[in-house]
Amino acid sequence: MSKHQYSLISLTRSRFFQKHPTSYRGSISCLSENLNNTNEVTAKVIYSIAPAVGHNKEAHPECSSRVPAIVTALEKVELTPKFRGSEIIQLQNFRTATPEDIASVHSRSYIFGLEKVMQAMERASEQGIIHIDGSGPTYATSTTFQESLVAAGAGLSLVDSVVEASKISENPPVGFALIRPPGHHAVPKGPMGFCIFGNVAIAARYAQRVHGLRRVFIIDFDVHHGNGTNDAFYDDPDVFFLSTHQDGSYPGTGKIDNIGCGNGEGATLNLPLAGGSGDIAMRTVFDQVIVPSAQRFKPDIILVSAGYDGHVLDPLANFQLTTGTYYMLASSIKQLAKELCGGRCVFFLEGGYNLESLSNSVAESFRAFIGEPSMAGQLDNLGFLYDEPSFKVNQAIQRIKHIHSL
Ligand SMILES: [Zn+2]
Repeated sequence: MSKHQYSLISLTRSRFFQKHPTSYRGSISCLSENLNNTNEVTAKVIYSIAPAVGHNKEAHPECSSRVPAIVTALEKVELTPKFRGSEIIQLQNFRTATPEDIASVHSRSYIFGLEKVMQAMERASEQGIIHIDGSGPTYATSTTFQESLVAAGAGLSLVDSVVEASKISENPPVGFALIRPPGHHAVPKGPMGFCIFGNVAIAARYAQRVHGLRRVFIIDFDVHHGNGTNDAFYDDPDVFFLSTHQDGSYPGTGKIDNIGCGNGEGATLNLPLAGGSGDIAMRTVFDQVIVPSAQRFKPDIILVSAGYDGHVLDPLANFQLTTGTYYMLASSIKQLAKELCGGRCVFFLEGGYNLESLSNSVAESFRAFIGEPSMAGQLDNLGFLYDEPSFKVNQAIQRIKHIHSL
């Protein structure tokens, strides 16, 4: 380890410890606790919370009220451990990702460059915010680096819990990392599109390295293309990346003929769908594209970039998904994981910027995981909806089936 690396790690840990002593302590003990926690075997959902309260910019859609809004909504509709006993559990103590974990996806120059950002933040403490990427824009505060490590770690610990539970149960809980900053736009060399570290990509590498789960299937149903995850595994045959996204939306990548390269050719599936696509489109895509892709790939674990900005009420894009669509996706992905990989499945929060539709959609996902009926009939106002562009959607589906021989 170089002197430079050591100084970054020790700086990070000491600062983080001052702010989050409980979480840091948990990072040491969590794995052994997980192994002994029988609740995690019988639970149907296990979730972790990393709200990044210090990573905030006023009037920015990716703001610090997102995760608390979800947590408050889950409490309100009684989908928390307080109301559900061992059916739904919150992972209280989780590890913080280390710079080494992050370096499995991101370049060291980027990770250590963030140390300089932190120092710059201290110098600019009166302002408190800097823009680190013009598109979006992506911002950083003095806590961004530490809180991004916490967010990534909250996902890694869920991978631990779910994998350990799957060794002794055919029905392990589904993991859900309620974390931010989101990750799927962050490219190996830097931040992008509100994202700092690629949480789902880091978890994929972790599942391979620590748990020996070689084949990872990543489903990204955020309305935007997960370009960062796409780039991290573009030439990798062992990580299948499947993204549905609105055609022409940010960041403009993820064309239908971008299918991976080298040994990874065919292990990337990008399906841009026309604006206005909604519940019918997503159900068809699930049955005709996602299921056969996963069946053929035969994953050891399924990870999900769960963005809820495809909801019809979301301000950042123009899909017409509903809370009912997200119930279907959660239920179907859970079933797919049960059929293909011992139920090993972890969701990672990505986008979703209307706090009410975001919260309702996550709650619907929880209901799907525990096998309760959907409440979408009461939550969704179908009067908002207009006809889906079914001709264009079906054209895209036929084309992707041809390209990928599905
Ligand atoms: Zn998004």
